[in-house]
Amino acid sequence: MFRNEARALRYTSQASLYLCEGGTLLFSQATLEAGSSSRQSDIHDMRAPESEPPNFEHSFHSLGEGFHSRQEPAAVRAPELIALNRDLAEQIGLDPDWLAGPDGLAMLSGNQPPDTARPLAMVYAGHQFGNWVPRLGDGRALLLGEMVGHDGARRDVQLKGAGPTPFSRGGDGRSSIGPVVREYLGSEAMAALGIPTTRALAAVSTGEHVFRERPEPGGILCRVAISHIRIGTFEYFARSGDADRLALLADYVIRRHFPELIDREQRHLDLLGQVVERTADLVAQWMLVGFIHGVMNTDNLSIVGETIDYGPFGYLDVFDPDTAYSYIDRRGRYAWNRQPMIAQWNLSRLAECLLELIDEDQTAAVDQVNEVLGTFKARFEARFHAGLGAKLGLAEKRPGDVELALGLLERMHEQKADMTLTFRRLAALDSRDTGGDQPVRELFEQPESFDAWAIEWRQRLATEKRPDADRRKAMEAVNPAFILRNHLAQQAVDAAIENLDFEPMKRLVRVLDRPYEDQPEQADLARPPRPDERVRHTFCGT
Ligand code: AMP
Ligand code: MG
Repeated sequence: MFRNEARALRYTSQASLYLCEGGTLLFSQATLEAGSSSRQSDIHDMRAPESEPPNFEHSFHSLGEGFHSRQEPAAVRAPELIALNRDLAEQIGLDPDWLAGPDGLAMLSGNQPPDTARPLAMVYAGHQFGNWVPRLGDGRALLLGEMVGHDGARRDVQLKGAGPTPFSRGGDGRSSIGPVVREYLGSEAMAALGIPTTRALAAVSTGEHVFRERPEPGGILCRVAISHIRIGTFEYFARSGDADRLALLADYVIRRHFPELIDREQRHLDLLGQVVERTADLVAQWMLVGFIHGVMNTDNLSIVGETIDYGPFGYLDVFDPDTAYSYIDRRGRYAWNRQPMIAQWNLSRLAECLLELIDEDQTAAVDQVNEVLGTFKARFEARFHAGLGAKLGLAEKRPGDVELALGLLERMHEQKADMTLTFRRLAALDSRDTGGDQPVRELFEQPESFDAWAIEWRQRLATEKRPDADRRKAMEAVNPAFILRNHLAQQAVDAAIENLDFEPMKRLVRVLDRPYEDQPEQADLARPPRPDERVRHTFCGT
């Protein structure tokens, strides 16, 4: 048994207890074009345009044996580039023209990684739906290396679906094109909303089939992340008793991702504090746009607070806080309103891993991590409540604001109102005249329910001096007009799987790149699903 388990249980149960009591838990455009050679037209530069292969670095690889398994990707028959995120390529220091050319495709398909790549599968463990799994690891993903961008940031570049690894556990190491399209859309939409996330650099079809319930076209995603280290990476070493590698990992994470902590005496405790803060902020941001991660296992929670693993995720249409879409999540463990509690449960697992690094005196260590874990609630609530205030157009913070916001959520729930449209349309309402309220009223089964709430809202708005035009602008900047609605993601996935048709995906990528703009000509992508379009379950998909 894991040495700290018994001690750790104490704070786990405390943690979940007060979260249950907490009052707030109520609930780049992708292109297919080959590399444009705009530089050719530059008459001052007579040299032929040279595209540059990536110059990968390998800090994670340097951690050495035990952290990864070197693994070359398996070649595919007939790769084609489906989508390339040129803006992201530029940002991370990759040449988009090179990526769009034959050598780029050879890398993105795994057929021929560039000389500077050192493909490897990372090892990790994790708690899946609460159950301990001692070894998971990258079963279908390979880290090619790290790129240091013009902004100085170091980012992992990874292929997902590039063939089996020692961690494949009987899986084929491949991906259907469906999950590739889903993750591309999910992560790019999240980034455009301004929420920390892994990114999609490119999507490739392989020209081969993968066998799921039926044969489906294969695909490979090239994913970019500030880090692929998860809570489960720490658990792997801590729970197998590998104290040396655990310490190495912790110090690597601090050096790479939290360098401001290096010289602190309590750096491991402060590391936990940083992860608590980032995770609390992330979950609050998810919930404010109605996002449900769907599979918040400890192996799917990033150490740097980025959204990672776009498996069975979904967004709320009608506001129902108990919604869980994942097909395998029958009990709603990862429902929208349970995400803060689950995040804290996961952070408690991380805390367990760090105990021995924090203090030789384990009782003292437990007290210290408990104190840090205890900050989650306040951090989450501060972010979530501030976000709710902004969604209502409140510039100032006043007593009663949270109740006002929760009152609207409750009515949206009772009246089956669409979450995204309610907040978006609220922005346009006049702060005094109710004559133009119909666009919001009609979202509620009984519009009078909204009318009653709107009286309180207008009274509250009247206590601020902000002109309506300014308030509207501020509200539109936080209440998206477009989210990746589940039925839209499904339509794009179906078109890709059935017909290798990537037009629906590309249109979504374009529109969701500007989620806070109205884009009236794209109105069909803003509306909620019709009953026949509604998606009730989402799948992990591999
Ligand atoms: P996920 O559901 O994506 O978090 O994956 C959980 C674990 O299953 C990870 O270790 C994955 O690498 C592994 N896995 C998922 N799909 C496959 C696949 N097609 N082949 C091999 N391993 C897989
Ligand atoms: Mg995963």
